Amino acid sequence: MSDYDLLLRQAKVKMGTDDSELLDIAIKNGRIVEIASTINNDASVTLDVYGKLTSPPFVESHIHLDSALTAGEPRWNQSGTLFEGIQIWSERKQNLSLEDIKTRAIATLRQQAEQGILFVRTHADVSEPQLIALQGLLEVRDIVKDWITVQVVAFPQDGIFSNPGNEALLEKALQMGADVVGGIPHYELTREYGVKSVERIFELASEYDRLIDIHCDEVDDEQSRFLEVVAACSIRTGMSTRVSASHTTAFGSYNNAYAFKLMGFLQRAQINFIANPLINITLQGRADTYPKRRGVTRVKELWQNGLNVSLGHDCIQDPWYSLGTGNMLDVAHMAVHVCQMTGMPEINACYDMVTVNGAKTLHVEDKYGIEVGKPASLIVLDIDSYYDAIRYRSKPLYVISQGKILTHTTPEVTKWL
Ligand SMILES: [Zn+2]
Repeated sequence: MSDYDLLLRQAKVKMGTDDSELLDIAIKNGRIVEIASTINNDASVTLDVYGKLTSPPFVESHIHLDSALTAGEPRWNQSGTLFEGIQIWSERKQNLSLEDIKTRAIATLRQQAEQGILFVRTHADVSEPQLIALQGLLEVRDIVKDWITVQVVAFPQDGIFSNPGNEALLEKALQMGADVVGGIPHYELTREYGVKSVERIFELASEYDRLIDIHCDEVDDEQSRFLEVVAACSIRTGMSTRVSASHTTAFGSYNNAYAFKLMGFLQRAQINFIANPLINITLQGRADTYPKRRGVTRVKELWQNGLNVSLGHDCIQDPWYSLGTGNMLDVAHMAVHVCQMTGMPEINACYDMVTVNGAKTLHVEDKYGIEVGKPASLIVLDIDSYYDAIRYRSKPLYVISQGKILTHTTPEVTKWL
């Protein structure tokens, strides 16, 4: 009998902050059991991956699986704005069924997994009285758990206080088992409702012991200032790293004096940030003529100030973003461009934003990373650097989940004739 179930030979792994090393990685019973420059024992399956970049899997920090793969239903978003998207979704969600949600969510998760994503935080719209999207995604979380980890955010798309009954629906979603409390303060009817909604989210998270992920200031209005409210609540409650602010696109429009003051508060708060550059570069700035704003939060400056930033695809073929396949390297590639992170340490940081930083945001660090004792979930890419990963954006050669080879992709070969 073999000593190990699976052995990767001479994988190129980045350990800590040092340069990459060529290492053998031994896997048994779903876990990494040994990492060394040479392992002499034998294994049932051996993959010779000499010099290929081997990394922890991609983490999708922000996606809406309930609306994925619905672009054009019932109609195309012609203006390309967030608000037309919300209107189209309100029509499409009249026809939701559990089967519809589950089929599209699982198809999307398969697409994501074959591109190396093994951890996903999805939002579920809980503004609809039957909570069908939530129920469907909670069932999916269980169906797929042997090969991909899914976290579900109870997301009140239409606001908590701007629609009667939504506050109760949000609480019911937590009782049903949502992992994270969501919100959308900039879409509440008034500034006061927005502040009240953030305070209510923190109360619920503390009462039900859940994480927080708020769609925060996803608007070009420089007066949209709910991020400071989220920071204040985090400092007051000490919930810090359990809290994430998604989008925060208005931060890109704040005047520098205010942005500088806010950055100090954010460092005290130590919350996580999730930017979604693919979608926000297309949704935001629609009311601008020229110069036209980029509509993305201050990713580079947050990173330079030591805050945890991860990236999300946000939408795949839905009323807000009709393109995409779920590839996190497309997201990192767009971040390099839109956030002007073209220096080599900055390009490497963008790779971290779709891997290890996402694991911090999702609080899954105990089962994430190439370390002895952790579940063997990792990817092998057909290149040897983060830089080339982002340049080529190809599917991984191998996706290994909890010790099992989940997918193998044959690289493209072009012949000159
Ligand atoms: Zn979103």
